[in-house]
Amino acid sequence: MALFGNGPLTAQVALELARGGAQIVLLGEAAAHPLHRPLSALNLMRHDPALALKGMRLLADLRRRGIAVHHGCRPTRITQDGDALRVDHSGGVVTADAVCLNFGFQPQNEILRLLGVRMRFDTESDQLRPERSGDMETSVPGVYAVGDCCGLGGAPAAAIEGRIAGTAAANGTADHIRDRADLARHRAFQSALWNLYGAPSALLEDVAPETLICRCEEITKGALDAAMDSGHTDIGAVKRATRIGMGRCQGRYCAPALAGYMARRTGAQVGDLSFFAPRIPIKPVSIATLVAAETLLDDEPGDD
Ligand SMILES: Cc1cc2nc3c(=O)[nH]c(=O)nc-3n(C[C@H](O)[C@H](O)[C@H](O)COP(=O)(O)OP(=O)(O)OC[C@H]3O[C@@H](n4cnc5c(N)ncnc54)[C@H](O)[C@@H]3O)c2cc1C
Repeated sequence: MALFGNGPLTAQVALELARGGAQIVLLGEAAAHPLHRPLSALNLMRHDPALALKGMRLLADLRRRGIAVHHGCRPTRITQDGDALRVDHSGGVVTADAVCLNFGFQPQNEILRLLGVRMRFDTESDQLRPERSGDMETSVPGVYAVGDCCGLGGAPAAAIEGRIAGTAAANGTADHIRDRADLARHRAFQSALWNLYGAPSALLEDVAPETLICRCEEITKGALDAAMDSGHTDIGAVKRATRIGMGRCQGRYCAPALAGYMARRTGAQVGDLSFFAPRIPIKPVSIATLVAAETLLDDEPGDD
């Protein structure tokens, strides 16, 4: 098994797979070695020494198992090779039965966008983020947003944000001095972590025309470029022309790369409208669930 990614999760998953008996043939990390950013490493230690030590123990465990982290390494092409997969990467070639990729987390913010919450594009994370007050209230009064839908901040930060929002929603304001200090510390830790793991984003400009951009509908980069060349320059038009983003994941994987690429090609600013318009159902829902929901609504008091 070969793993490529950016961030600590790839190493954690590699270790869990190795513990489960998988043979890890390559663990590629896009970021440079931490020794290149000693200040960020020190900051990590300063903001949460226990978590930083946990990370170091994880890496030591990998080393004991003979699994080295190849820094500055990213896949450039994956092709079928008999029963196996051949991965060309920046450091050479590797063959594996399976390849795992993790190049970041995307916030699931469709419900916020459907509710009309004002979003801004965060250029550091290349993601849409809801505008929020210190109490986590969005631009829509009474709508609070917490946790990963606002951008990945880790489980402890999500829990604290939830406490602050819950108290504010119930009492009109939240006065959690301790929670706010803890939240600031978790955010500082995350900031140092992603500084340490900073790596240039892979750009659609650099991929070959036959590369699948939308894996659900099997739309290639070549088809995307052809649609743009023929005058489809907004994301909705490209979707209608090619079916890109119309598959099971509803653009979850392709939209972020597509939004940036289309903006660069057209000279536009990335914003809310650069992403696919959110639509319900937000996730695939079975007919049985819809029927059950309808039955529940029929049973509500006052409906007869
Ligand atoms: C593999 C992995 C490993 C991680 N490891 C760590 C770690 O070691 N330490 C750490 O701090 N963080 C870790 N994280 C991040 C951490 O899990 C998140 O930051 C945290 O769970 C965010 O909490 P949340 O409540 O915002 O979102 P979630 O925990 O994702 O909860 C959201 C919930 O909403 C539900 N939901 C979504 N859409 C709908 C809908 N339309 N209707 C109804 N329900 C819906 C989902 O099913 C889910 O139960 C990891 C994440 C992953 C994916």
